[in-house]
Amino acid sequence: SDKFGHIKLAPDDAILQTAIAFRNDSHTDKVNLGVGAYRTDEGKPLLFRAVKEAEKQILADPATNKEYLGIDGHLKFNKLAQELLLGESSSAVLEKRVASVQTISGTGSLRIGAEFLSMFFNPSCVLISRPTWGNHITIFERARIPVKYYPYWNPKTKGVDIEGMINALNDAPEKSIVLLHACAHNPTGVDPTPDQWERIADVMARKDLLPYFDSAYQGFATGSIERDAFAIRMFISRGFQCVISQSFAKNMGLYGERIGALHIVCRTSEIADKVLSQLKIVIRPMYSNPPMHGALIAAKVLEDPALKNIWLSELEQVSQRIIQMRRVLLEELVRIETPGDWTHITSQIGMFSFTGLSPAQCENMIKKWHCYMLTNGRISMAGINSRNYQHVARAIKDSLQ
Ligand code: PLP
Repeated sequence: SDKFGHIKLAPDDAILQTAIAFRNDSHTDKVNLGVGAYRTDEGKPLLFRAVKEAEKQILADPATNKEYLGIDGHLKFNKLAQELLLGESSSAVLEKRVASVQTISGTGSLRIGAEFLSMFFNPSCVLISRPTWGNHITIFERARIPVKYYPYWNPKTKGVDIEGMINALNDAPEKSIVLLHACAHNPTGVDPTPDQWERIADVMARKDLLPYFDSAYQGFATGSIERDAFAIRMFISRGFQCVISQSFAKNMGLYGERIGALHIVCRTSEIADKVLSQLKIVIRPMYSNPPMHGALIAAKVLEDPALKNIWLSELEQVSQRIIQMRRVLLEELVRIETPGDWTHITSQIGMFSFTGLSPAQCENMIKKWHCYMLTNGRISMAGINSRNYQHVARAIKDSLQ
């Protein structure tokens, strides 16, 4: 009998579809504004110099082998990743009350984190920002955690709907998880201000909600590791227990190496030990243990002061190029007298900008101007460079009509 004939063709992922449509377009002025990865001013992927050098040293080291890592991954990497995120002088780090495991980048970390919470926290639901990175929703659903939403984007101000968010958190059921983007919110590019973060922490403390931070862009948003970790560190200094998914895809350009970590900040080191033991039980039947190469690279970059300095300055350059592209795009939109206020282009941060363009206007960007983007209005600033910003500005102006 036919075993698989009943299966229907699944729809393509929207981001992947955009990438394919871009590749198949032969127009010379085509622009890829859909890509979720950094591009240089020449439109090319970037291999960080610090990463290249770390890789060279690893391969030249006679002690390097390809043995299995433990279930929780490369222990030195886990510690260095924890310190980068929380700060070396974090009380949670010093008191050894953070359970950390290496994961398959940020996505794998979220999936293990969600599974762990489903098994051991008995959550009533997870509250996710509307809008968010699409995979968040599916990841928590797959872990059998009901998904609810809090308002986040205010289309009028093109900023955070802080009152809507606070009200939703205030109404959250007991034992809710709250998923928060640590910095550079995807897709909107708007983050709460420090004062707004304090208000979020106030209501979450009062309601005893569990923060789950997704940190996919540390250092990539502002160029500063410390500033981009502000929210996480503030919550921990206020005594919150929390879960954090960390990715090195963007900030080290290690997309395809799939390197990340999951950290669970507990009240005591005894609790963290037990949590770690159970995280291993979650991981073992999924993929046994994580891949080694990306962990060796990230650990080398974080461990070697010279390499770390090179990396930090490269990260600064990367974030500055994006900030610069925001500036030139805004100036060009103003220069060609584009109707409306476009200052959100420069006030938003990180890889993405939420333009406010409607789905029909996005279609015009794609069909007439060969500017490939998501139809929710999100553009990747990394796709903009000194050769195409004028074309993009003209496309935006035309699409408004
Ligand atoms: N979280 C957010 C908000 C993201 O934008 C991404 C990637 O685009 C990820 C997590 C996970 O990325 P990765 O699995 O490549 O680390």
